[in-house]
Amino acid sequence: MPLASIRSMLLAAKSGQYAVCAFNIENMEMAQAAISAAAELRSPVIIQTTPGTLKYAAPEIYLAMVRQIAAAAPVPVAMHLDHGETYEMAERCRAAGYTSLMIDGSKLPFEDNVALSCRVTAMAGETPVEAELGTVGGKEDGHGAAIDYTDPDKAAEFAARTGIFSFAVAIGTAHGVYKGEPRLDIALLKKIRAVVNIPLVLHGTSGVAAGDVQECIASGICKVNYATDLRMAYTAGVREALALKPDSFDPKYFGAAGREKVRLTAMERIRLTGSQGAA
Ligand SMILES: [Zn+2]
Repeated sequence: MPLASIRSMLLAAKSGQYAVCAFNIENMEMAQAAISAAAELRSPVIIQTTPGTLKYAAPEIYLAMVRQIAAAAPVPVAMHLDHGETYEMAERCRAAGYTSLMIDGSKLPFEDNVALSCRVTAMAGETPVEAELGTVGGKEDGHGAAIDYTDPDKAAEFAARTGIFSFAVAIGTAHGVYKGEPRLDIALLKKIRAVVNIPLVLHGTSGVAAGDVQECIASGICKVNYATDLRMAYTAGVREALALKPDSFDPKYFGAAGREKVRLTAMERIRLTGSQGAA
């Protein structure tokens, strides 16, 4: 299929009370694995890249790769810019063919975040935009941040003024590997849901207990981001393969091992978020 819009995907998830997985990919193997997991489970899927990934290789390269893999897939695949840092980055990804854009002005003062998000929604036109208010904690691309919970009163104003399509909430999750048990504020999520009637997005979901993820989905989350889980799965597969055959020098050998681990992890996450059979 041609690359899909995230719009119909997330609106269907919102009314169907399930969530679509958004998988961060770093290379071809991870993209193939995520899409093949979705195809096997007849699920829509979102592939996304962070700014760190786009510094490693250009968005046009990832887009072309994902577009080709998606073309052969029997399920809808959307391509999303995760944590877009600047207007220019969002503009470049849209021009490249990304079907969804996040602009992350969450570290800016409220009015600056509104202004940046407004500029990006105006530029994006029909392309849906995700933005964040409050701060998801932890490390994304090496930048550490403390959790700053989303203010539900500001959330409604933010969504209305910016015209964003989806809203990333800060309710206690963090990027990277959790040091202790993450403590999610589900009551806060419900408060946000009550005043913000657009798709809500959960970041930093790797390492969150299955029951908590499902409770978030029941409370209004319809896009769930997984980055760390897939990076760990890929690397574990590569490590195991190289431990088994330390003399191997063929990247196809250990790449395939990483790919298979990512595929299995992605299938587990799709089953957990309830989008199996939704495509
Ligand atoms: Zn994130």
